[in-house]
Amino acid sequence: MDCFREILEMPSDIALKLAIQIRKSNFLGMRQIRVVSGYLLSSKCSADCKFCGWNRAVVPCEERPKLNVSILNAELAEIGDQSQGLEIINNTQRIDGRLLEELQKLSFSCQQARVGLNIGLPRDIDDFLFLRDFGFAYYVNDLETAPRIFGKMVKSHDWAEKLVAMDLCKKAGLSLHSGFILGLGEENPDLEIVFQKLKQFQVDGIVINFFTPVHGVDLPAGLISPLEVLRRLAQLRIAFPNTPLVLGGGRKSYLGEGLIRIAFQIVDTIYTRSFLNHGNPYWLREGEILEDLGY
Ligand code: SF4
Repeated sequence: MDCFREILEMPSDIALKLAIQIRKSNFLGMRQIRVVSGYLLSSKCSADCKFCGWNRAVVPCEERPKLNVSILNAELAEIGDQSQGLEIINNTQRIDGRLLEELQKLSFSCQQARVGLNIGLPRDIDDFLFLRDFGFAYYVNDLETAPRIFGKMVKSHDWAEKLVAMDLCKKAGLSLHSGFILGLGEENPDLEIVFQKLKQFQVDGIVINFFTPVHGVDLPAGLISPLEVLRRLAQLRIAFPNTPLVLGGGRKSYLGEGLIRIAFQIVDTIYTRSFLNHGNPYWLREGEILEDLGY
C-alpha cells in the first residue's frame, strides 16, 4: 500500500497534470447527482458529530420539508437522462423499521431512476437486503475523516461501526459509495488510512465534502488552502483512476469560481441541489464552466 504514501507526497504540479490526464482518458462529461430536499423521519439527527450542522435545531433543518412521493416525483421529473442520479440524504444516525417503511413507500417511484441513500448505520445485513430489494441503487457511508480525528469529534458512534456497515453493504450486494471531508486537519497518514479503507471495500463512488463551519458548528475553519484542496483531489484521482469522484458540499467556499474549473477536470461527478437557490450567480457560473469544458 506504499503507493498511497507516495501519491500523498506528490507535489501539486505533478499531481494535477497526471490527474487531469487520467480524468480525460477515463471519464466523459460530468455526471450530476441531485440531492433531494426533504427529510424522512426527523429534520434533526440524534448523533453528535461536531463537524455537522444537521444535529442542531437551527433554521435550515426546520425549513426542510418531510419527503413524500410527490416531492420525490417532482425531483425525479427534473433529472433528465441516466447520466443524472438522485440521492436521498436523511440525517439519521441509525436505520430502523420506521425508516425502512418510509423508504418502501418511496421505492415505487424510484424504479426508473438511479437513486442512492445516505441514511445512517444499519442494524444488520437485513437492512441492506431490504434496501436492495426495494430497488435502491446504492448506499452512502461516509468515513468522514480518519479515526484519529473522528474519535475527537464524535462520541455517539464509532468509526469502526462504519467499516462494519461497509462490509455488510457489500455482502448484501448493494453498491457502496463512501468518502470523507477535507478541512478537518487531516494529514498524510490520516488520508492514507482513509484511502486504504476505500480501496479495501472497493467502493463504487467516492464523495468529497469540505468542512464548512455552518449551522453553529464551533470548529476552526481554513485548515486547508484552496490549492491544497486541488492537490488532494488530484491525489485521490491518481489513487482511484477508475472510481467516480463526487464533488460535494462546501466546494463553493473552498474553490469558488477561480479553481472550480480545475477541480472539474479532476472529478467526474458533482452533487447538485434543487433547494439551492439556482439563481445564485455562483451556481450559474458552475454551469457556464461545465459548458465551456464541453461537459
Ligand atoms: S450522523 Fe451524519 S447527519 Fe448525523 S450528525 Fe453525524 S454527520 Fe451529521
